[in-house]
Amino acid sequence: MVQPRPQALRPERPMTVRTLSRLLSALRAWRAEVEEPVVGRIREEHRDPYAVLVGTVLSLRTRDVVTEQAFDRLWPLASSPAAMLDLPPPLLEAAIRPVGFYKTKARALHAIAALLLEKHGGGVPDELDELLALPGVGRKTANLVLTEGFGKPGICVDTHVHRILNYRWGFVATKTPEETEMALRQNLPKRWWIPVNGLLVAFGQRICRPVGPRCGECPLRGPCPYPGKKGARASRK
Ligand code: SF4
Repeated sequence: MVQPRPQALRPERPMTVRTLSRLLSALRAWRAEVEEPVVGRIREEHRDPYAVLVGTVLSLRTRDVVTEQAFDRLWPLASSPAAMLDLPPPLLEAAIRPVGFYKTKARALHAIAALLLEKHGGGVPDELDELLALPGVGRKTANLVLTEGFGKPGICVDTHVHRILNYRWGFVATKTPEETEMALRQNLPKRWWIPVNGLLVAFGQRICRPVGPRCGECPLRGPCPYPGKKGARASRK
């Protein structure tokens, strides 16, 4: 049987803020039992915004396990912008390979380190605009450094947040992660701004996967409004 594309189905009615808050609260209890996504683990271990920034750059389009291994090789060699800049490009590339686009990321890490030294005294800025001015840093990275690195309000929208809040739950109806971020800045209660990314990334990786969601073991299967959830027809009878 041909499976519908994830985007082909979506809830008929928009999800309310109240329902979303209920689902996220339930996810909080579920998340306590599973491992943090990689950037959260780096935050817990190092308590250093620069570590969060480096980990986030490495994590883009890369699986968590690969990111974590690359970070663990790189960090002993370059745990500050000055040390990063001193690391010869071939050694930097060798340390982070095989993360996706490792050559581009190695160049970005050098360029970021140079700018942090030149404009921020070797520290990491804690304002969104200043983070966005760093080479190769987009909204997802900047928001994640704000929330995970500094505990400041920001909304990091990655592919899981964008996908689940659109197609699975219908809380937003947007076309791009950036549009989703702007919609959430207007409608999402502030208490969820920081945790929403960690909750939905862990949930999207393990349970509400883009292809083959594990609805049978999903803690939100009852209230989930996705019309394509497995067992949906049976549960409506
Ligand atoms: S029931 Fe299925 S579609 Fe709904 S949140 Fe759970 S895994 Fe995702």
